Amino acid sequence: MTSIADKTDFSTSANDFIDEGRLHGLLDRKTDDAELRDVIAKSMAKEPLALEETAVLLAADALEQVEAIFDAARQLKRDVYGNRIVLFAPLYIGNECTNDCAYCAFRRSNKDVVRRTLDEAELRAQVEALEKMGHKRLILVFGEHPRYNAEFMAKCVHQVYATHVGHGAIRRVNINAAPLDHAGYRIVKEAGIGTYQIFQETYHHDTFAKVHGTNTRKGDYLWRLDGLARAMEAGCDDVGIGALFGLYDWRFEVLGLIAHGHHLQKHYNVGPHTLSFPRLRPAHGVKLDETYHVNDDEFKRLVAILRLSVPYAGLILTAREPPEIRREVMAFGVSQIDAGTRIELAGYTEGGSDQSMDREQFHIGDIRPLDEVMRDLLTDGYIPSFCTACYRLGRTGEHFMEFAIPGFIQNLCTPNALTTLCEYLVDYASPETRQAGQKRIHEELERLPDGKRKTELLDRLKRIEETEERDLYF
Ligand code: SF4
Repeated sequence: MTSIADKTDFSTSANDFIDEGRLHGLLDRKTDDAELRDVIAKSMAKEPLALEETAVLLAADALEQVEAIFDAARQLKRDVYGNRIVLFAPLYIGNECTNDCAYCAFRRSNKDVVRRTLDEAELRAQVEALEKMGHKRLILVFGEHPRYNAEFMAKCVHQVYATHVGHGAIRRVNINAAPLDHAGYRIVKEAGIGTYQIFQETYHHDTFAKVHGTNTRKGDYLWRLDGLARAMEAGCDDVGIGALFGLYDWRFEVLGLIAHGHHLQKHYNVGPHTLSFPRLRPAHGVKLDETYHVNDDEFKRLVAILRLSVPYAGLILTAREPPEIRREVMAFGVSQIDAGTRIELAGYTEGGSDQSMDREQFHIGDIRPLDEVMRDLLTDGYIPSFCTACYRLGRTGEHFMEFAIPGFIQNLCTPNALTTLCEYLVDYASPETRQAGQKRIHEELERLPDGKRKTELLDRLKRIEETEERDLYF
């Protein structure tokens, strides 16, 4: 049994694959229209891009070139993900931490933050509150501390899956936490997690050392960089990578993320399930260094460029961003967002109308209730989805890609999204959201071709509306 992760336990592919000289070299260029057209054509053929090709997009900064990238990203989003947006909620379990990250309110040297770890009753209360909202997918977030070892995380995962109120159920639990060793990943995998997420935060070595310090567990660049390779070797085949934009040059970090994905694809035959691209946010007791601040226009470009670079990886846009930015950026290829989010410890039962900065890791831009986010998504033409079918039918990692790449996923995702939307409308929605949702379902049914799948779907929607049956998926 592991207590804390054994830091001598590396994966078989462990090496520092971030060649800064090469990445900086790739960025030192101009892009002409012909090159840009060729790279966009490759993306539109749904082929992942090479680093050099992503660099072509990053260097394309003429107005019409940027517009061409935006248009292509919008189209690729429609082609691969249709108009679905998958919803989840983050749930902070504990903010004890042995690290001292310069950008984080929970860093160990910040004595002015409220430290808390949810006990069983408090965790149950949070999950029940989230289920009463209508959530079905959670990501559990932990600081890095001996208390939050693999066994503790697994216990929390089991408790979340075992908590039910009314028709409520959390059907997929992901984790965002510190890197583990192989044994630790096996323990959380056996507990039934979906995705294990680790953000490198920055791929720039000097910046990494500067913001994390070298005398902390998080300050070990290679241990962290190798974190998800170990996870994959231990059977966690859905992994999520991310960078904290604003610590270093955003173009460099985009190349770092793509290089990380290539490394996993090369050694494990499957890339990351998701990519995250949070921007630095104000945090309690943190003096932010604005040197590499990413403005809104650059943020839109990086999302569109990520979309074109990794057609099949999920892109996660969080509530760090304000609603108006989220609304605009979603069209560029975002596939998942959180909603009704509170990141204070016990925030789903104790959070007031305003955020309590001394109880959260950073300030967030969007605390609209889930029902309001649902209505806005429906009004904007999206299908909000709580689908967890692939994960529960074993369509994960390499196997997921077998489904995703030929485009069949469309034939599964839309029907599954509509059944989860229908559940939300029947069990949780306000009258206005129910009306907008029923209109959406009707319009989507009009679009679906007649046939066996549509007949099955109509039957399932009817059973959700007229009986106590729930959780019907393909
Ligand atoms: S970012 Fe994470 S690891 Fe770093 S201090 Fe904050 S909670 Fe700890």
